[in-house]
Amino acid sequence: MSAELSPPAPKPADDRIRCDACPVMCYIRPGQAGACDRYANQDGELIRVDPHVVLERVVEAGGNIVPFSANADAWDGRVVGEPTTFVTAIGAGTTYPDYKPAPFIVASEVDGVDMVTVVTEGIFSYCGVKVKIDTDRHLGPERSLVRAAGEPVGHVTTGEYGSQMLSLGGVNHLTGGSKKEGRVTCDTLLALCNGQAVELTIDGGSNLTVQAGKPPLVNGQLEERMRVGCGSATIGMFAKQWEGFVDEVVVVDDHITGILSEHQAGKVLGIPDTGIKIKGRRSTPGRYFQVAEPGTGWGGTDISDPLSILQPFDPKVARPGLTMLMTSTTGEHSAYFVLDEALRPVETEMPDQLRRSVELIRENCEPALSTVLFMAGAGGSLRSGVTENPVRLTRSVKDTLTLVTCGGAPTYVWPGGGITFMVDVTRVPENAFGYVPTPALVAPIEFTLRLEDYERLGGHMSEVRRLSEAHGLSPERRSVRPRSDNPWPLGPSDPRRLAG
Ligand code: SF4
Repeated sequence: MSAELSPPAPKPADDRIRCDACPVMCYIRPGQAGACDRYANQDGELIRVDPHVVLERVVEAGGNIVPFSANADAWDGRVVGEPTTFVTAIGAGTTYPDYKPAPFIVASEVDGVDMVTVVTEGIFSYCGVKVKIDTDRHLGPERSLVRAAGEPVGHVTTGEYGSQMLSLGGVNHLTGGSKKEGRVTCDTLLALCNGQAVELTIDGGSNLTVQAGKPPLVNGQLEERMRVGCGSATIGMFAKQWEGFVDEVVVVDDHITGILSEHQAGKVLGIPDTGIKIKGRRSTPGRYFQVAEPGTGWGGTDISDPLSILQPFDPKVARPGLTMLMTSTTGEHSAYFVLDEALRPVETEMPDQLRRSVELIRENCEPALSTVLFMAGAGGSLRSGVTENPVRLTRSVKDTLTLVTCGGAPTYVWPGGGITFMVDVTRVPENAFGYVPTPALVAPIEFTLRLEDYERLGGHMSEVRRLSEAHGLSPERRSVRPRSDNPWPLGPSDPRRLAG
């Protein structure tokens, strides 16, 4: 942070110094940290408390992000092997207000092309997270409030393909509600983004424990597997294995319950009608909606007795001795029935072949995880720290001339206005996220582009320095290895960025 660019601030009468890295403008006593614990007064100097993180590639080795020189010696600005070094924004500091250039604008050379990476820790007051929870269990009605510590922090949104989705944070919870709501929302987002477990409750639904990259806990129960598909898809996948071993199969699912004899897969295999009748709304042959209410029972419904979704068999078609397998889409629940003389299903021990098919369904269910995507926008004033003509940065990102990364991790940038991006928090180095009490989250963001493009879009050219010339606000540097599944941000992954 350049002292000469700081806005004039009233000088305290004592030895406190004023941090101007966010709107809170803390006065900090010597040896103490500001309200966010990110900046401190060290012998009268404002320092960024956490080490500045750089990614360092080691030959062609990969591996997940592993700190290998955490708390390294004081950084002397020494060049560390360009272009195997990528300067992230983690610990780089924030500029506020954003008309000041970003804390680091670092030049490097990649395959003979001069590149520049502009890094800053952005303050995001409108940010949020999207949480994907791999479970077919009903967590709560869509649009229900999600709470942390009793405060509303988001809502249940559209379920997607066997996963339940939550939308948490955003401006309405961070700044639009009570002070406590904003603080709890900020704490919740911060914990989730930094990979910590968070307890949530859903109005009219379940209690959850969610942690990025870990299986969710639903009402205290560990979710191990996500469903193999809906009931109809399960019929399609396994119909061949049931042929000749059972007369009827019902795959119970909250979304689409499948019936083998009616389903196209059964028709193709020549499976005869069984006279089965099921509750719910018939969508297409063998596919039924709303056979029960959503819940935490069989296949994400509220039933514990699978026969409760059946109506009496059609006596004109059914016959005593007819066999029926009922299973959920995860294979977690299953039962085998034989019709008695009165055409009532009687539960009987399941034959081995069918037991194996249920095990196969179970085996085909992928591990259930919670996935947390951080979502924020760099479409506001943050762009001014990059260029004097902010809209050109947006255009450059849209034209894929500028790569946007978050702590070196790849982002998805939404089409349309602004630079609205999402990042999987598990691909970002640990503890990359911070907060300020406005409240808002602090997240790293880096823009990498060709130097000549940077000049063309009105970049702060006088601030461009090589890494060797860069002196951080932080006294320490921490080198981490990039994750092997993250593309190298300075690599030629996008030819347009490197093309002349
Ligand atoms: S909250 Fe943190 S960044 Fe903001 S002024 Fe205080 S110490 Fe600086």
